[in-house]
Amino acid sequence: MFDFTLTKQKNAQPLLKEIISQSNGTQAFLQNVLEYFVNTYSVVKGSIFIYDNVTREFTQKAAYGFPMFPKARIILKIGEGIIGRSLAERRTIYTESAASMRGYIRHHNFPDDDTQTYLAVPLLQGKERVGAILLLRPTGEPFLAEEISSIRENANDVVSAIQNASALISIESAKRDIEKGMRPLEITGELSYRGSSVSHGWGIGVAHIFARKYSRLTSAQLSTAKTVRSIDEAIELVEKKLKESTEALNERLPEAASLIFESSAMIMRDDNFLGKIKALISDKDYSTPKAIVEVGNEFIKLFEASEDEYMQEKARDVEDLTLQLLEAVSEETPEYSILTRPHIIIADKLLPSDILRIAQGNVKGIALIAGGATAHVSLLVRSLDIPTIIVKELDLLRIPNGQEIIIDCANDYLYVNPSEERRYNFELRSQAQKLDESNITANNPANETVTLDGERITLMANINLIADVQNARKANFDGIGLYRTEFPFIMRQSLPTEAEQVKIYTRLIQEANGKPVTFRTLDAGGDKVLPYLYKTKEENPAMGLRSMRFTLRYTNIMDQQLRAILRAIQYTGCKNASIMFPMISSVEEMIAAKERLWGCVDSIQAELGDKELIIPNIGTMVEIPAILAVLDKIAEESDFFSIGTNDLIQYTLGVDRTNDSVASYYLPHHPAILRSLKTIADVAKSKGVHVSVCGEMGRDPRYIPFFIGIGLRCFSIEAIQITRARELISRFTIKQCEEYANDLLSLSLTSEIENRIDEFTDKIFSN
Ligand code: PEP
Ligand code: MG
Repeated sequence: MFDFTLTKQKNAQPLLKEIISQSNGTQAFLQNVLEYFVNTYSVVKGSIFIYDNVTREFTQKAAYGFPMFPKARIILKIGEGIIGRSLAERRTIYTESAASMRGYIRHHNFPDDDTQTYLAVPLLQGKERVGAILLLRPTGEPFLAEEISSIRENANDVVSAIQNASALISIESAKRDIEKGMRPLEITGELSYRGSSVSHGWGIGVAHIFARKYSRLTSAQLSTAKTVRSIDEAIELVEKKLKESTEALNERLPEAASLIFESSAMIMRDDNFLGKIKALISDKDYSTPKAIVEVGNEFIKLFEASEDEYMQEKARDVEDLTLQLLEAVSEETPEYSILTRPHIIIADKLLPSDILRIAQGNVKGIALIAGGATAHVSLLVRSLDIPTIIVKELDLLRIPNGQEIIIDCANDYLYVNPSEERRYNFELRSQAQKLDESNITANNPANETVTLDGERITLMANINLIADVQNARKANFDGIGLYRTEFPFIMRQSLPTEAEQVKIYTRLIQEANGKPVTFRTLDAGGDKVLPYLYKTKEENPAMGLRSMRFTLRYTNIMDQQLRAILRAIQYTGCKNASIMFPMISSVEEMIAAKERLWGCVDSIQAELGDKELIIPNIGTMVEIPAILAVLDKIAEESDFFSIGTNDLIQYTLGVDRTNDSVASYYLPHHPAILRSLKTIADVAKSKGVHVSVCGEMGRDPRYIPFFIGIGLRCFSIEAIQITRARELISRFTIKQCEEYANDLLSLSLTSEIENRIDEFTDKIFSN
C-alpha cells in the first residue's frame, strides 16, 4: 500500500502516476487508485465500478467502507441507481441527499443511511463507458465545487489505466477460474449475486452443480465401483427406468416424453456401443464399469468433435446413458442421477434436453452462469414454472453441493447461504402473494374479464407446452389464442412424425376443455433454430429462412403438420379450432399457405368419406410490417388477425428482440408501432375481421388500455399473467381507454408518449 500523507497536497498528480506504474496486479491497482481518492478527498466510503459493454452491467471492483466487499459485490445495470444514471447519461452526478434522488437504490450492501452525500463520476474514454467512481461523505458534509472539478480531473487521468486494468481483470479471472479448478467456494455468511431473471417466482433448495465434465465424475466413481450386475442386466434395468420416467414425464411434457427413451435406447442397443463393451469385458478382462466408461468416453469424444450442433447434443445423451449404466452395474449413485431433494441447479449452459432431465427431479430453480438462455430454454423453464436466473459469476460453479440457495426472480437476485431473516421474508412473501391472488378472485367471483363500465374482454392464453394449459385453466382462461407448435419440434432431435403430432395436438384440444384453440403453424428459424433441420448456419437467421419461408420451401413438413392438426380437430370434434400462419409478408404468401391447407383438407376429406369434415378458421399473424400496406387484401384471405407485437416491433424498428445491447431501442411505444397497431385495428374493423394481440405487449399494463382504446377486445397472453390482467382491466372504462389511445396517437416524440403513459398508469394504479 502507498503512503497517502503526501497526497493531501493540491497537486497530487505524481503520486497517482506512481500508483499506475507500480501497483502489483490489477486488483491492487484499482484498490490503490480508490484509496488515493478516499484519502485525498477525505471520504468515508468509495467504490470503483467497471462497466461491461456486453452485459451493460457494471460491477464493484474496488471498495472502501463496504464491509461485505469483496464477498458480496454490487452489480447494477446501466441506468440503475445514481452511479448507473451517471454512466447512462455520461455526466457527473452530485447530491447532498441521495435518498431523494430519482433512481436512488438503497442497496442491501450499503451498510447505513448516514452517508447521503454522493458524488458519482463516470469514467469515459471518449464516448465509451469504462466505469465510474463513487465517493460518499456523511450527510451534511458537502463536496466543494473545486473538489468536484479536481476529482473529475484526476478521474480523467486514470481512465486509460483503468481501461487496461479492466481488460486484464477479465483475462486474469478466466485464468484464475481454470487454475482454481473446482476448489469449493468458502462461504461464511450470506452471499448475494445480482442476475437477470429468465422466468418468474422464487425458489429455495440446495445447490447442485450440473456436471458436464464426464471424466471428472467417472474417475472418482470408477475407483470405488463395485460390480453387482452384468452388462445385460444393467441394460434391462436402465431400459425399465427410462420407460418409467417417460411415463412420468408424459403427464407434464407429452411433447417430449418419448424423446428421452428413444435417444438412449437406440444407442444402448447399438452393436458398436454394447458390442464394444462386451468385447472389452470378455477379450481384455476389463471390469464392467471400466468397459462402460471406456466405450462411453470414446462415443462422447466422437460426438463432441463434430461440427454439427445436433451431433454435439448426442454427446450429452451418451454421457447420460453411460452414467445410468454405471449406476446400474455398481452400487454407486452417479452425481447426475435424478434428485429428489428440493434443489437448485447451477450450470454454465443447459440444452433443452437437459431441462427435460432436470424437470424430472425435485428442482426448485436454475442458475445459469454464462451464455444467457436461448429462446427454447427460456420458454421451457417458464412453461415448467422453474424460477431461473442468469448470474455472470463463475464463482457460482464452486458452490459446494448441498449449500442452501434462494433464487428471487422478482428482484433478480440469487442468495447463497441465506440468513434466517431472508428465508423468513421469502416465506412471508409467498404467503402474501397467495392471499393477494385469492383476494383478486374473491373480488370477482364470476372470474370474468370486464372493464369498469361492463364491457366483456376476452383473455386467452399463449401456450408453448401443454403443461401451460393447467395454469390457464386455473386462471379461467377464454381459450388458447396462440399455440406455438414449434415446441415439440424444438425439444426433439428429429422431426416428430405425423402420428406423434396428432397425439400432441389432440391432447392440447382435450386439455383446453371445449374452449377455442388457435394453432400457429411451425415458426422455425430466427431464435428458434432446429439444429437437425438447419444444417448450414445462417448469417442472420431473423432475416433468413424463417417461419412461412421455411415451411413453404419444405412443403412436406408443412403438409404433415397441417394434416396432423386437421386430424386432431376431426378426432376431437373440435368446432372452435383455428389455424394461423406466422410471418406472412405478402398476399401471395398467404394464398400459397392457404392452398397447402386446402390440399390437406381435401386429402382428409377423402379419408373421411361421408363423415362431416370440420374446417378450422384461418388467420394471419400480423408481424411483418410490409403487410400493413396490403392489409385490406390480406383481410379478404383471413377469418382473423393475430398481432405478433414481438416481431412487429423487431422488424419495424430494426432491433433484434434477443439482443440486450440494443434493448433500449426496442420501444413498444414508438409512434411507428402505436400507429401501425391503430391501422391494423381499423382495417380489421372495416373488413369485419376478428383481431387479437398475442405478442408480449398485450400483457403490459401500460398498453392494455391502449389496445382497448383502439378497439381490440381480445388478448392472448402468458397463462400466469391472466389473473393480473383481468384485475387491471376492471379498473378503467372504454371511454378512458379511447382518450388515452387518442392522446398517445397524437404524439410524435417518444419522450412525450412516455410521460403520458406514466401519467395514465399513475392515475389507474393509485386508485
Ligand atoms: C410475436 O412475434 O409477437 C409472437 C407472438 O410470436 P413469437 O414470439 O413466437 O415470435
Ligand atoms: Mg412472432
